[in-house]
Amino acid sequence: MKNIDLHIHTTASDGTLSPSQVVAEARRAGLAVISITDHDTTAGLEEAIEASREAGIEFIPGVEISATHPIAEAHILGYWVDFKSQALAQFLSSPLSTRTARIAEMCKKLGELGMPVDPDEVFREAADAEAVGRPHVARVMLRKGYVKNMDEAFDRFLGEGKPAHVKRFKNTTADTIRMIHACGGISVIAHPGLIRDQALIDALIQEGVMGIEVYCHEHKKTQASRFSRLARGRGLLITGGSDYHGAMLDKPFRLGDLQVPYECYERLLEARRRLKTGS
Ligand SMILES: [Zn+2]
Ligand SMILES: [Zn+2]
Repeated sequence: MKNIDLHIHTTASDGTLSPSQVVAEARRAGLAVISITDHDTTAGLEEAIEASREAGIEFIPGVEISATHPIAEAHILGYWVDFKSQALAQFLSSPLSTRTARIAEMCKKLGELGMPVDPDEVFREAADAEAVGRPHVARVMLRKGYVKNMDEAFDRFLGEGKPAHVKRFKNTTADTIRMIHACGGISVIAHPGLIRDQALIDALIQEGVMGIEVYCHEHKKTQASRFSRLARGRGLLITGGSDYHGAMLDKPFRLGDLQVPYECYERLLEARRRLKTGS
């Protein structure tokens, strides 16, 4: 029986193996098809394509995008996205506008704490606006004498859980699904069992998501059959992957341990063909 794994991470995001090492592992495990789906980046794909070709493994270029929705957060997988697309690269690196908004939000919070900081001053500090972030805010705070050093700025105000901390803005699920489709990709809800509020799954289907990751290490048997029924009922694609991150203590499984029916890949291929011919 041919096995496949359509959800794998590498050192391009938070995995411990390089794309080539992942392909070598996949070969050892006898996988027929793999997809590398790093978090918010496509940086590992070129290397993986090359290595898969040499190893004789079918490869789907993928990505896993973190997205927000008023109900909860979700991870959306994109298969066969045009990973050389400029629009996608920009989308993944969080658009400048959201960074500007985040800095403004931090400055507002600092003002409320009695430490007024003008966002423009932070942008001047950053000079290269592309990379503006918390260190620039901290430097302005230091110059104004609000803190004695950068560490204090983070430890007391800007760090996670501190009063002037603002979460990195993410793309919405609707924008994410749209972007995957605009780049010729197929959108799939990753590990739906991990989504905090299951109402979000319905919302994502409304937003046009094309598939559900039914086979997943995180899913209990009952969850897998529930998601499988849901997918069939709604005419959605069924995929599966281990969410492999390399050797990790809290996830003691190896590539190839999870069984995913080869049929999932065949259905995906059909869907892709339909997308290409527009039928
Ligand atoms: Zn995920
Ligand atoms: Zn993942």
